[in-house]
Amino acid sequence: RAKDQGRNTYHFFETEMTERAVQRLHLETALRGAIARNELELVYQPQFRLANGDLCGVESLLRWTHPELGTISPAKFIPVAEEIGMISELGRWVLTEACNQLTRWDAEGFRVPSLSVNVSVHQVERIDLIDEIKGIIAATDVDPDRLELEVTESVFMRNVERVVENLNALRDLGIRLAVDDFGSGFSSLGYLKQLPISRLKIDKTFVDGVDTDANDSAIARAVIVLGRALGLEVIAEGVETQAQASFLENEGCDAVQGYLFARPMAAGALRDQHYAVTD
Ligand code: C2E
Ligand code: MG
Ligand code: MG
Ligand code: MG
Repeated sequence: RAKDQGRNTYHFFETEMTERAVQRLHLETALRGAIARNELELVYQPQFRLANGDLCGVESLLRWTHPELGTISPAKFIPVAEEIGMISELGRWVLTEACNQLTRWDAEGFRVPSLSVNVSVHQVERIDLIDEIKGIIAATDVDPDRLELEVTESVFMRNVERVVENLNALRDLGIRLAVDDFGSGFSSLGYLKQLPISRLKIDKTFVDGVDTDANDSAIARAVIVLGRALGLEVIAEGVETQAQASFLENEGCDAVQGYLFARPMAAGALRDQHYAVTD
């Protein structure tokens, strides 16, 4: 009996694993064709300066809508793209589309001061990253000063020499660098003084509890103080309540982004908000 049960359990796991593998294969196959089938788009979430409430930047966020699978979260498909070697192609599409949008907004009279684009650690490690970005900037006629790349701390833990080389080359081009999800990784802080970083993005997990949890508020406060001491700008992501925004403002955080102010939206919708803008 015990043996039978064991076998049943085994079969259960086997079936579940097979199902998961099949699902995963579906996802991979679908993702490989997503660009060609025009299933990708970027949405944009505004960032506001706390001192005056003005729009100071916009973050692009990737969306994938599959005809049968529906909308799939980037948190789910970006890791798959990385594993199947598609992230460079995807990253190139994102950068090109984001730069084209910046130019389109300019033409419409909507001047976005800074556009932040998320890039994966795999992109930052590539030897051809700089040539590719130069090509995109030239083709889309975007001023590199208006671009910011968002990378997570994981970037600073891998393949150090290439990463340092690429990040310095980006800085030389005039492109700014932000550390996304700051504080959620396990990297040491040493890289902050060695690399050309201009902004820290306080991770949402800390922002969530700034007004209710003593640890979260201590960490958020420490990041703001650290940023100021190092001459870096600090922005908080995932701000959902007025209490959180007030805390961040009182502590001297420079900028905020989150559902309290606006959700990510289509390019035209963002333009039509007619936000006050400062550089
Ligand atoms: P992220 O860069 O940290 O982006 C912030 C995420 O939080 C976004 O989720 C955004 O929609 C969401 N968010 C913003 N404000 C709030 C809020 O107030 N409350 C809550 N609950 N969520 C908020 P999204 O768009 O699903 O993206 C998830 C992650 O996927 C991003 O995290 C980023 O790591 C990655 N990602 C998105 N687009 C790209 C891309 O073009 N390239 C790469 N490599 N990664 C991307
Ligand atoms: Mg980001
Ligand atoms: Mg983030
Ligand atoms: Mg995050």
